[in-house]
Amino acid sequence: MLELEEALSRILAALPAPTTESVPLTEASGRFLAGRVTASIDLPAFNNSAVDGYAVRAADVVAARADAPVGLRLQGRAIAGRVFAEELRRGATVRLFTGAPMPRGADAVVMQEDTRRGPTEAQEILILDSVTAGENVRRQGDDVQRGAVLGEPGQRLRVGRLSLLAASGLSALTVARRPRVALLATGSELKEPGVPLRLGEIYESNRIGLAALVAQAGGTPEILPIVPDDPAATRAALAQAFGASDMVVTSGGVSVGEMDFVKSAFEQLGGELDFWKVAIKPGRPFVFGRLGRKFLFGLPGNPVSALVTFALLVRPALLRWQGASEVALPAYRGVLGEALANPGPRRHFLRVRTDGAGGVYSAGAQASHVLSSLAQASGWVDVPPQTALAAGTTVKVWCWD
Ligand code: AMP
Ligand code: MG
Repeated sequence: MLELEEALSRILAALPAPTTESVPLTEASGRFLAGRVTASIDLPAFNNSAVDGYAVRAADVVAARADAPVGLRLQGRAIAGRVFAEELRRGATVRLFTGAPMPRGADAVVMQEDTRRGPTEAQEILILDSVTAGENVRRQGDDVQRGAVLGEPGQRLRVGRLSLLAASGLSALTVARRPRVALLATGSELKEPGVPLRLGEIYESNRIGLAALVAQAGGTPEILPIVPDDPAATRAALAQAFGASDMVVTSGGVSVGEMDFVKSAFEQLGGELDFWKVAIKPGRPFVFGRLGRKFLFGLPGNPVSALVTFALLVRPALLRWQGASEVALPAYRGVLGEALANPGPRRHFLRVRTDGAGGVYSAGAQASHVLSSLAQASGWVDVPPQTALAAGTTVKVWCWD
């Protein structure tokens, strides 16, 4: 039996470097940068006001207080997007709005709240508080300097970085292409939702969750029809699936039963196969195969096993295929509100839920066909073989979606 880490490193080592494409920034969310991005402008690009107020020479208003205001003559005004062309005169002020460029000669901005209208033209604006040079001024380049690195290859484009790239004037980015991932479910007992079931039949429930996980990992899922347990049907379905995708994910039919046709069908198509029993629960039988530059991931059929093996072994592969630098599942820490035990010989990924106070509890029954506990769960705890974790233990909860 193979350790999980060993299985994962074999998979990651087999993946090719990402292929890239250019996409508009509006379509880049969730994509992986394929090259380094640098700033072609400073941010801010010019000194500008951080507030609505009055541009001053700080030296003119050093004595200003609420009970001893300093009067300044109003020289003009500058809204955001407009440059005030003149130099600020001594003893004068320019009305500014947030984001407006600083007039030449001004070195600070007095907030509007610290000013009042004055009685005469020469005293038109009364300044009620002093400012230091630079106060309420957003300086050119204080956020990003021209030439600075804005993004590195392998980084996933989340909202924060996208906003930075937009502010820096980028309109298109080179990113990894999304893998097209075909999803096949095998099993003669499986039926599409909506049709009545006869005794012995069940509704197919793996493709929907797997499609969601593929999309979360940046792939484009394609749900293909259910495949009956039949060698020719399995071969035909695999051939069709590989035709239009970069990877194929199957569920079911990969154990050692005489109704398990995925492995043999794949080999008949010319695929090179690795079949492992991975030492995890739920999970265990797992197929990894290569067909030219395309890949097969054969997951066990039990719904919880399929999702767990996907999250542990296929998700990282999808991410790495896109050049992702980080492929680990996200996790958070919590404290066990009750004991969790794994008396068995394989490490067990126990479904858990977290209450509002951060307490971690079993999400219910842990057998690999039990979906009600999956629905309750916010993640799982990786419990080593023959291990009991007492209430109060700090644990890592791994999130699969
Ligand atoms: P298998 O891996 O094909 O031996 O299937 C193991 C168990 O999972 C059996 O009880 C199957 O009926 C069930 N199963 C397999 N595939 C699916 C699926 N796509 N949706 C729901 N249950 C499945
Ligand atoms: Mg089956």
